[in-house]
Amino acid sequence: MPELPEMEIVARRLDAALPGQVVESALAPGINALKTFDPPLHALEGRAFTGVKRRGKLLVLELGELVVLVHLMSAGRMQLNPKRGSLRDKAARLMIRLPEDHELRVREFGSKQAMWLKVLRAEELDGDPALEALGPEAWPDPPPLQELLRAPRPLHSLLRDQQVIAGIGRTWVDEILNVARLSPFKRGDDLDEEEAERLRAAMASELGRVMDAYEEQVQLPLPEKFPKPTRVHAHQGEPCPQCGTTLEAVFYEDYVMSYCPQDQTEGRVLKDRRLSRLLK
Ligand SMILES: [Zn+2]
Repeated sequence: MPELPEMEIVARRLDAALPGQVVESALAPGINALKTFDPPLHALEGRAFTGVKRRGKLLVLELGELVVLVHLMSAGRMQLNPKRGSLRDKAARLMIRLPEDHELRVREFGSKQAMWLKVLRAEELDGDPALEALGPEAWPDPPPLQELLRAPRPLHSLLRDQQVIAGIGRTWVDEILNVARLSPFKRGDDLDEEEAERLRAAMASELGRVMDAYEEQVQLPLPEKFPKPTRVHAHQGEPCPQCGTTLEAVFYEDYVMSYCPQDQTEGRVLKDRRLSRLLK
């Protein structure tokens, strides 16, 4: 599931490789993947890439006056291939043919077609609802959090709400909360100033740690499966990286929330939602 660090390294790698390359053709074969019709996708043809940027978990491919805004959602993957792939690839959602048989391709795995893209005029980008709705960036310089998170909702959900703060998802939220020694269930409006500052520092250091790892490990062509330098998320049963206590987890239908009872929940082991449902 691509979050801020995954999209940031994708943006960096593409930004180093794509500028100057001219689009030979562009296809968006997925049902409903392309959300715009004006300008049309073929307006990209003959244009050169000028840069690639990230906003929150979204990617912005810049081609001078036009931009392509891409949201990979949970199962999309962006790849820059040295050789063109099959046109019959059922997972393909965007295929941009480049010179010398190279190709930029977005593939989506799983049964849902959730990823989307938009072709926009560069001046329309900032006003696009998907970007306008984003909260401040979680990295590299997270904003002060006490005011931002002042809501009667648990931190685990607030921090993943892209309208509150942009870039964090289910994987890195567990790492950040563990380093900040805060319960995933603590309410945003219960954060005191010192805790809010601890959380901000943890956000900067954890996302920075992941970026450092990706800088070393992620190269072109971009991987389908990213390395996961996690220490807490999905590591239940293993020792906490801070204190050595055995990590616990709460299981939801399609994800797991992992935490250290010693550092984060005052020794309490929180209810396992999966087990409690099964026992009903
Ligand atoms: Zn611990």
